[in-house]
Amino acid sequence: MRLLRSTDLALRVLMRLAVAADATPTTRQVAADMNVPYTHTAKVVAELQHLGLVDARRGRGGGLALTGEGRTASVGAVVRTFEGDGDVVDCEGPTPCPLNSGCRLRGALRRAQEAFFAALDPVTVADIVSDPTAPLLLGMSRGPGPG
Ligand code: SF4
Repeated sequence: MRLLRSTDLALRVLMRLAVAADATPTTRQVAADMNVPYTHTAKVVAELQHLGLVDARRGRGGGLALTGEGRTASVGAVVRTFEGDGDVVDCEGPTPCPLNSGCRLRGALRRAQEAFFAALDPVTVADIVSDPTAPLLLGMSRGPGPG
């Protein structure tokens, strides 16, 4: 199963903020660190803020911070939220599949999709920033160094 780009980006933002040595990086900094467009990052940050996982303060000295809820958030819950409840295959679309009204494969794929999410349910944001990921993230949050 392939994740939407916004789902992966949401997780990257949460991971980046989970180890932020620079305390409250801006959305622009996070976008640059993660090598993704600012506009896409801003949309994802707004959604994470809406979910209560990220706190965004405006103005001078402002920036992004992970909330307590964001740190303990289930990766499965984040993925479910960003992926939505669509099927992994488009059975109806502009050219509907003729098996659509009675397809056993469709049910099997739904169960497989749920199993995929369920495997991520017990994993938290804090879990996915332990070593070896943490040192990489810390290197980003400290910026490029003097030399
Ligand atoms: S074969 Fe089944 S799962 Fe595949 S597109 Fe058709 S209805 Fe959907």
